[in-house]
Amino acid sequence: MKKEKVIIIGSGPAGLTAAIYTARAGLEPLVFSGSQLGGQISITSDVENYPGFPEGTTGPELVTFMQQQAERFGARIEYDEVTGVDFRNGSPFTLESYSGVYQADAVIIATGASHRMLDVPGEKELVGKGVSYCATCDGFFFRDKDVVVVGGGDSALEEAIFLTRFANSIRIIHRRDELRAGEHLKNKAMANEKISFIWDSVVTEINGEAKVEAVQLKNVKTGEMSSLTIDGVFVFIGHTPNSQMFKGQLELDEKGYLVTDRKMQTSVEGVFAAGEIQDSLFRQIASSVGQGTSAALSAERWLEDQK
Ligand code: NAP
Repeated sequence: MKKEKVIIIGSGPAGLTAAIYTARAGLEPLVFSGSQLGGQISITSDVENYPGFPEGTTGPELVTFMQQQAERFGARIEYDEVTGVDFRNGSPFTLESYSGVYQADAVIIATGASHRMLDVPGEKELVGKGVSYCATCDGFFFRDKDVVVVGGGDSALEEAIFLTRFANSIRIIHRRDELRAGEHLKNKAMANEKISFIWDSVVTEINGEAKVEAVQLKNVKTGEMSSLTIDGVFVFIGHTPNSQMFKGQLELDEKGYLVTDRKMQTSVEGVFAAGEIQDSLFRQIASSVGQGTSAALSAERWLEDQK
């Protein structure tokens, strides 16, 4: 069994920031990357609101910078996923990954959240055949095509704007007549002539054999059903926290987010959490970075107190 001072589960902005801080404190953190180094931002095209980049940056660039910075101070990144944890007997905690079993004096959880699915007929079958959850990854395949984007939040609008680089037309399907997205993105999307809106509507079915051909829509106000011929469906309807593994061991709220105190400590002493796994409210790169900092400082102080 490998023994570590600090294990960080997750390599998004919260995890990598916690790695920078714990590494600088000499704790030689081991970071489990999860299935994708960088997490959600690794598939985010433009990042315009992260301080320090007056002209904006991209998600992948930010991930690379954060990774390099963490490694410069001695953090080690394990390209592996934690598959199980045992926090029941306190520190040292036991963690299992595909590559082995580990013990850690302190743990920082930064497993983030995953995109939600529409859960309608045809969706699962057509993933990768026109149904996508990542415009940055798949937008290129929709050059001169007509696509729909589902959702009314910042992600839906940001990704719709990104898709205008490729697609011929983008129709945003939103279940209400008012967007959840912030003013800046709202104005930018409204001003783009490739983007139009279908209000008060939900997708009830996605049709196609080898690829997406159409979506069935329902107007939630009138109940009217309609069919739209389309080449692609991009779904951005929010996220659910990646907390399955912690059920029964750590306190979760009613939506499945980890409950933390002001020190970012979970319901188990020595286990801290940062980023979207414990934050259903802000979910920004900058707020995750702040939470990662706090979790790392708390872990460092907690370990010091144990001596
Ligand atoms: P979100 O803010 O939770 O928005 C989800 C959208 O999907 C909402 O408009 C919601 O409708 C809709 N929706 C949810 N379930 C649905 C369903 N089953 N069928 C149809 N529509 C459904 O999620 P997000 O846009 O991914 O943003 C997540 C967080 O990241 C937010 O805090 C956001 O501000 C942040 N973010 C920020 C930026 C940026 O600042 N540039 C970019 C991306 C994300 P209702 O509105 O009716 O609830």
